[in-house]
Amino acid sequence: MECLFCQIARQKIPAAICYEDDFIVAFDDIAPRAPQHKLIIPREHIATLNDLKPDQAILIGKIYLVAKQLAAELKIAEAGYRVVMNCNEGAGQSVFHIHAHLLGGREMKWPPG
Ligand code: 5GP
Ligand code: ZN
Repeated sequence: MECLFCQIARQKIPAAICYEDDFIVAFDDIAPRAPQHKLIIPREHIATLNDLKPDQAILIGKIYLVAKQLAAELKIAEAGYRVVMNCNEGAGQSVFHIHAHLLGGREMKWPPG
């Protein structure tokens, strides 16, 4: 049984996809926490950041490049935005396929809490 985000990446479950290439898919978060809230995932299933292997490191760079591109397209690049990846339940991870949250369109608090 594929995980939720593997199924979204393969378009077996619908999502508002805003970017895709051979390695990365990005789509709207179903429960946005900011005026702009996208999720950016690798197509490859990696459960948590703890499971990332050295030969998968390029995927993290690609995630950030997509975040940068989407931020520009969404016109939040200049005002500022946040890219965050939660690792394990204690940090708020609820879907165990790594994903970066791209959040913007409002002022961000620090620390996140
Ligand atoms: P996490 O809590 O693991 O860091 O983030 C998981 C995110 O996935 C949450 O922000 C949640 O709203 C989002 N999410 C959960 N289920 C779905 C879904 O079926 N579709 C979409 N587009 N987002 C989802
Ligand atoms: Zn998966």
